[in-house]
Amino acid sequence: MLIEVKGLCKTYGKGESEVRALDNVSFDIQRGEMTAVVGASGAGKSTLLHLLGGLDTPSCGVVRYEGESIYDMSERRLTEFRLQRIGFVFQFFNLIPELTAWRNIMLPQSLKGKPDTHYLKSLCERLGIADRLSHYPSELSGGQQQRVAIARALANKPDVLLCDEPTGNLDQGSGKEVLGLLKELSQDGQQTVIIITHDKTAAGVCGRILTIRDGRLFENG
Ligand code: ADP
Ligand code: MG
Repeated sequence: MLIEVKGLCKTYGKGESEVRALDNVSFDIQRGEMTAVVGASGAGKSTLLHLLGGLDTPSCGVVRYEGESIYDMSERRLTEFRLQRIGFVFQFFNLIPELTAWRNIMLPQSLKGKPDTHYLKSLCERLGIADRLSHYPSELSGGQQQRVAIARALANKPDVLLCDEPTGNLDQGSGKEVLGLLKELSQDGQQTVIIITHDKTAAGVCGRILTIRDGRLFENG
C-alpha cells in the first residue's frame, strides 16, 4: 500500500466561525491507482489534497506513505519529502510567468542539483510539448500550460501526482487530452494519480471514485 489515511479531521476557525472541513476520513491508495475525489464546492476536497501532500497539518488523524507518518516528520524532512515524492498540479497551472516552459520544468530538479535533461526532454516528448519549451506561459494555450505543469510535477519522478481540478480551467477538448495523459501515466507508467474534480467525464476516466460530502468520505462502487 502506498498511502494510508486514518481518521483524518480538519477544523478551521474557532467557536462561532468553526468549520469542520474534514470529518474522520479514512482510505488507502495502492501504487498505480488513478482515483477521483468528487464533491460539491466547499465539501472539503482541496483540504484533503493539501493534507495528503503535506501542505497543511490536520486537526487529528494520520497520513502514512509506505508506513511513514508525514506529520511526524521534521519541517526539513517534510520539505524534502514533498519535493521528491509528491507532484502537485493545480487548476490555474501555477507556472512562473517570468520563466520559459523549459525553465519551469527544470525548476524542481534544479533545487536538488543538476537536472537530468535527457529524462526531462523525454517527458516533454511524451506530453506533446517538446516544440513549445522556449515559450513563456503567456504564449501557450491553457492545455499546453497544464501539460507543462504536469511535466514540472513529474520532474522528480514522484510517487504520487496530486491534481486539484486540473481540467477546471480548460475547454472540453484540452481537458480531455489532459485526462488522457494522466490516465496513460497511471496505466503504462504505474504513476499513482489522485485527481479532484467535479467534472463527470474526469471521474469516469478514473478507476476509483471517492465522494466527499460535508467533510465525510464515501466510496462509490
Ligand atoms: P472544496 O475544495 O471541496 O471546494 P475546501 O476544502 O476548499 O472545499 O473547503 C472546505 C470547507 O472549509 C469550506 O467550508 C471552506 O470554506 C472551508 N475552508 C477552507 N479553507 C479554509 C481556511 N483557510 N480558513 C477557513 N475556512 C476554510
Ligand atoms: Mg477546492
